[in-house]
Amino acid sequence: MTDCLFCNMASGEIKPDIVFENDAVLAFRDINPQAPTHVLIIPKKHITSINEIQIEDETLVGKLYTTAKAIATQEGFAEDGYRVVMNCGEDAGQTVFHIHLHLLGGRQLAWPPG
Ligand code: 5GP
Ligand code: ZN
Repeated sequence: MTDCLFCNMASGEIKPDIVFENDAVLAFRDINPQAPTHVLIIPKKHITSINEIQIEDETLVGKLYTTAKAIATQEGFAEDGYRVVMNCGEDAGQTVFHIHLHLLGGRQLAWPPG
């Protein structure tokens, strides 16, 4: 166990409701969903926030988006639309300091966010 919740999910120590997994990425349902589908997509590698993403992580971060697209298709709302968002730091409301893409879909989403 580490002190990072999402690293413990990536290693299998903690078992979330997994939607997709491969060697680089894990996707699981948010414990406090804000839409009919609310999935978090994380790299298995620990990266604290967007501010710590390095050039060599660009391909890995891209995989978060291709995973979001695949899950949106699987969940059936790819054509209707959906939102992917990554919060960075306190002002954005980041609470877990291991980067994660929120995938939100299945309802009309308001813009701008609060
Ligand atoms: P942030 O606020 O950092 O952008 O997003 C963190 C997200 O992680 C929140 O939407 C929160 O509901 C979710 N979360 C926090 N703890 C857990 C947990 O133990 N399991 C799952 N599945 N999601 C969690
Ligand atoms: Zn971590």
